[in-house]
Amino acid sequence: MATNRTFTMIKPDGVENGHIGGILNMITEGGFRIVAMKLTRLTVADAKAFYAVHAERPFYGELVDFMTRGPIVAAILEKENAVEDFRTLIGATNPANAAEGTIRKKYATSMGENAVHGSDSDENAAIESAFHFAGREMF
Ligand code: ADP
Repeated sequence: MATNRTFTMIKPDGVENGHIGGILNMITEGGFRIVAMKLTRLTVADAKAFYAVHAERPFYGELVDFMTRGPIVAAILEKENAVEDFRTLIGATNPANAAEGTIRKKYATSMGENAVHGSDSDENAAIESAFHFAGREMF
């Protein structure tokens, strides 16, 4: 059964390029309610753990450097069928393949620097949310 929450990050490129407001606007216009949100920064250990599934990939080091180079916005979003609908809203990993109207189509600059993260399963959404937020920070 699909849960009604997902986890997102506006990645360092999105923050650096001044797109926090534009991305949050697309999220709320897309029907998602912000349950929790903060400006924070991943440590190298955080980023390595978060992307451990990609540890053997050639881009892993570059990805860890990118994700730790500046602040991110971490947030929990609520909507019916949140995980799947948010993956649709963000678009394909490579912005060249992202559909019109998606966040990555508008704000991503490359396959690596693609502006936003969206959890890929309900299980990962719960793990990623719990990593960043205490219960009293969720509303
Ligand atoms: P998604 O974020 O769309 O779920 P993945 O889980 O496959 O995509 O990859 C995680 C992140 O790793 C991507 O969002 C992107 O920042 C980076 N990444 C994935 N593939 C590549 C690649 N071929 N080159 C550089 N960075 C990549």
